[in-house]
Amino acid sequence: MPSHTKKLGPAARFGAKYGKRIRDKVKEIEMQYKHRRVKCPFCNYKAVKRVAYGVWRCNKCGRVFTGKAYSPY
Ligand SMILES: [Zn+2]
Repeated sequence: MPSHTKKLGPAARFGAKYGKRIRDKVKEIEMQYKHRRVKCPFCNYKAVKRVAYGVWRCNKCGRVFTGKAYSPY
């Protein structure tokens, strides 16, 4: 993802052609998962946060791993 789109929010990369309605829905979903605590597959501690698109990091053991966009598994 180009860094210049970052300040426009997570939905910005989908562009205008998808329309406002879709972007709002995507934003809603992303916000939902952004605040969800996910269990770490290495230490089983619920401290995993999504740090980038498909990239997850555990605040407990410090491991960084890649996964799906909305799920670490
Ligand atoms: Zn961990």
